[in-house]
Amino acid sequence: MNNNKPLDTPIVCKGLWKIFGANPKKILKEVDPTWSRTEVQEKTEHVIAVKDVSFQVERGETFVVMGLSGSGKSTLVRCISRLIEPTQGEVLVDGVDTVTMAEKDLIDLRRHKLSMVFQHFGLLPHRRVVENIAYGLEIRGMRRDERLKKAGEVLESVGLSGWGDNYPRELSGGMQQRVGLARALAVDPEIMLFDEPFSALDPLIRREMQDELLRLQSVVRKTMVFITHDFLEAIKMGDHIAIMKDGEFVQIGTPEEIVANPVDDYVRDFSEDVPRHKVLTVNSIMNRDCCSCSENETAANALALMDKHQSQAAFVVDQHRSYQGTLTRGQAMTNLESGSPMNQIVQQETAVSPDALIETLIGTATRINHPIPVVNSENKLLGAVDHRAILLAIEGS
Ligand code: ADP
Ligand code: MG
Repeated sequence: MNNNKPLDTPIVCKGLWKIFGANPKKILKEVDPTWSRTEVQEKTEHVIAVKDVSFQVERGETFVVMGLSGSGKSTLVRCISRLIEPTQGEVLVDGVDTVTMAEKDLIDLRRHKLSMVFQHFGLLPHRRVVENIAYGLEIRGMRRDERLKKAGEVLESVGLSGWGDNYPRELSGGMQQRVGLARALAVDPEIMLFDEPFSALDPLIRREMQDELLRLQSVVRKTMVFITHDFLEAIKMGDHIAIMKDGEFVQIGTPEEIVANPVDDYVRDFSEDVPRHKVLTVNSIMNRDCCSCSENETAANALALMDKHQSQAAFVVDQHRSYQGTLTRGQAMTNLESGSPMNQIVQQETAVSPDALIETLIGTATRINHPIPVVNSENKLLGAVDHRAILLAIEGS
């Protein structure tokens, strides 16, 4: 196999098309780009399953492809491992185009670099759990004792210790999918492809499996492509999400970008169901023009600033805009006469990061009744979040 050194972008997909039908290459040349998928189907009896899709997946990230049933997600993910032959386009895995790859290299790629988890588990019914997990290692030619040892370790990591000798049918759906996950992990692949792995599971088990995969991913840091038709699952699992419709990507972005700025009604319809405070960060609601004052200011001037900003507090900063503490209206009033220096009267308070999710502010907001200061990693004051903005984010959910 081509031993190009690994790039930091293990998957690059360029201009990928998949057309099903008798003569896809011919249709690709002739098709009018303005025709809808239904029109193409009616006029040519071909289905455009994937239409000119381009994207890339960075190492260690989870890239989610989300769309309604029939939008082309399974076809797309199968084109990555070439279980389906693309009609046109490039799929670079670690810089090597799989579309033009020799069969031998392709087998090698599937054995060593990629592994896949399917919706319907795909376990071998006559093999015990531990042998199912060891299957990929067996194909690679690993010795029996070695592969069973490795399978046992992976079994433990997915929370199934003690179930190795059972047969798949003796396990619940959720447990069977844990086996599916373990089998994919056992070969220690660089890239994992998931095609709606949790869609067949009950909601509670499903949530448990999502949490389990997030936990595993925080340890193994694989490059993952995760397919789902569930927007909330996409938001929860994805570092980046691509929204797919009729074979095309209509939007790619972080969960926050997509929820905050859906490109069209199709995306908006999904994002409306999302509790915004669980997705949006402080950055999107903070007031950059908050009431800040210098540490050399008098209490009287600080009060005047608060009036101007209609704020219940002023955030005291030094000459480098480094956050020193919060001066409330009450403290300012008490100290009007004293003339005490600011650094003796302000109190240091929990400041939050602009990257924190809004929902993490709720606790702080119930404790204090003035805006919450926002600082960067160098403790520089960036702005403040008032309670109204938090409530609006929650109400807009
Ligand atoms: P999804 O996984 O998003 O539900 P699929 O990739 O399975 O979507 O299917 C995309 C479109 O391609 C659908 O219209 C489907 O009917 C069609 N399709 C999928 N596989 C085939 C096939 N082997 N032959 C013909 N049409 C297919
Ligand atoms: Mg599918």
